[in-house]
Amino acid sequence: MSAPASAQDDTLRADLAADMPGLMELYRDLHATPELSFQEFETAKKLAARMRALGFEVTEGVGQTGVVAMMKNGEGPTVMLRADMDGLPVVEQTGLPYASKQIAVPASGVETGVMHACGHDTHMTGWIGAAQLLVDRKDEWSGTLMMIAQPAEELGEGAPAMLEDGLYERFGTPDYAIAFHDAAQFPAGMIGYSPGFALANVDSVDITVPGIGGHGAYPHTTKDPIVLASAIVMKLQTLVSRESSPLDPAVITVGSFHAGAKHNIISDEAKLQLTVRSYSDESRKLLLDGIARVAKGEAMAAGMPEDRLPTVTIADPYTPATFNDPDFTQRMMAGFATRFGAERVMQVPSVMGGEDFGQFKRYAPDEVQSLIFWVGGVPQEQFDAAQRGEADLPSLHSPFWAPDAEKVIATAAEALADATLRLMPMGGE
Ligand SMILES: [Zn+2]
Ligand SMILES: [Zn+2]
Repeated sequence: MSAPASAQDDTLRADLAADMPGLMELYRDLHATPELSFQEFETAKKLAARMRALGFEVTEGVGQTGVVAMMKNGEGPTVMLRADMDGLPVVEQTGLPYASKQIAVPASGVETGVMHACGHDTHMTGWIGAAQLLVDRKDEWSGTLMMIAQPAEELGEGAPAMLEDGLYERFGTPDYAIAFHDAAQFPAGMIGYSPGFALANVDSVDITVPGIGGHGAYPHTTKDPIVLASAIVMKLQTLVSRESSPLDPAVITVGSFHAGAKHNIISDEAKLQLTVRSYSDESRKLLLDGIARVAKGEAMAAGMPEDRLPTVTIADPYTPATFNDPDFTQRMMAGFATRFGAERVMQVPSVMGGEDFGQFKRYAPDEVQSLIFWVGGVPQEQFDAAQRGEADLPSLHSPFWAPDAEKVIATAAEALADATLRLMPMGGE
């Protein structure tokens, strides 16, 4: 069969080292030219051209701006590798020589700077790097390589858009789906993973709370929606603290509370905007049902008439939780530990953030085994300074997020290629 693991390791890493200057050039270009969600036209074109040049069969425009690159290489499983393409409406302040100066108009209609503040430029470049390594090794694997570049991860809408556009029906349902995300809380080149639920269900909820307006000096002639909405905000906290299990993570955050126009007028309406986070379908239902019940109950307690009760709107679609198949995850991580050394691979707590990558499993849960892992991006000296309490680390989405891109890309490309080679060995498993 193939060469002994150590020799193969050496060639994979040596080939990658030779590819890195070209990959870094691509990275700097992508970083300087980010595009907003569902506006990734130029980005998609660049990726599609590269994948065509590598010999993939490329289809563009899947789920608006998505790219699907297929390489059939004999019998065997289908491995899907996913990168996301969108930047964020953030004005870059990293001061990097290749910092973005792009301007665009998001769905909100307010013109803004655009930045790859979530590091999706490292994802795309690592993905191209993996593709190059795998194409160079076509005689070492057998199966179908399905590489997808997804739009609009930041909206949680890109993955469902590609699935609804027939991703699996047109190109096949993968046996394995793998992605990575850069991480702003651990050092560059570290690999982090969470078996089971890795990222949360994300729901956006709007509550409109009617009141009966009037003069601020005569509250008894009104129903004050600010007092009522405040009671709702406080009571919502008990859904997490009293109703959901302490062992089942849940978050309800009221991120926006708007009402009124002037000191001495009691408004006739208050508006709340919430983000709601959970892992399981059951706890999601408990929170969402509870929110509707609390809003109605508090309004009734305040004496609002039946026809003027709050309306609760749950944004549809929502972003479902991302689940890492535990056995599959452990299997892939055991290989990473061999390749990178156990000290570079660590289990990390799951997060209440969201990712639409979870959709790729949810669409065909019995067929797809799925894994998303983290690749640390914090430059080592910054991480050390933060450990000493001398620096604060910027988070993802920060205008100051400047990962050690070279380490992220090299680690990710090698990891993705390694995982794929192990999943599709020549001659079957
Ligand atoms: Zn993001
Ligand atoms: Zn992201």
